[in-house]
Amino acid sequence: MEYRVGLGEDIHRLEAGCPLILAGVHVPFEKGLLGHSDADVVFHAISDALLSAVGERDIGFFFSPSKEEFKDIDSRRILEFAIEKVKTHGCFVSNVSIVITAERPKLAGFIDEFKRSIDATLRIGEDRIGITCKTNEGLGPLGENRAIACHAVALLEE
Ligand SMILES: [Zn+2]
Repeated sequence: MEYRVGLGEDIHRLEAGCPLILAGVHVPFEKGLLGHSDADVVFHAISDALLSAVGERDIGFFFSPSKEEFKDIDSRRILEFAIEKVKTHGCFVSNVSIVITAERPKLAGFIDEFKRSIDATLRIGEDRIGITCKTNEGLGPLGENRAIACHAVALLEE
């Protein structure tokens, strides 16, 4: 058995008038994430981790923000694309570990919903999806609630 690990990270700006979509879940909040797609930092970070693990280019390469066809795209489609790439390389996902950094809203209460939503596409079992939600202790743009960031690590088996 061979293993591969991949790391992905993403950050999007929080703006009024945008929906807040995290891991495919609509989180009620006064602001949302701005982006060419639905700006789902969680799906973007996981997708980049998967692509990185198999040596593929990142989601910005495959889903260029300059292309009108990807405007407001549902990021679950991006995650599905990354999973297909993983399969093309003869691999499957063993587990993913995710850290979401947001000063507000408090996200801990959404963790089970996030897991269910991620597993609806990954299909690896919710006990193979780890999610940590933390603040940035008031520091920097994340701490000032101007952005939300996500880091993801994925372990693949070949
Ligand atoms: Zn993104």
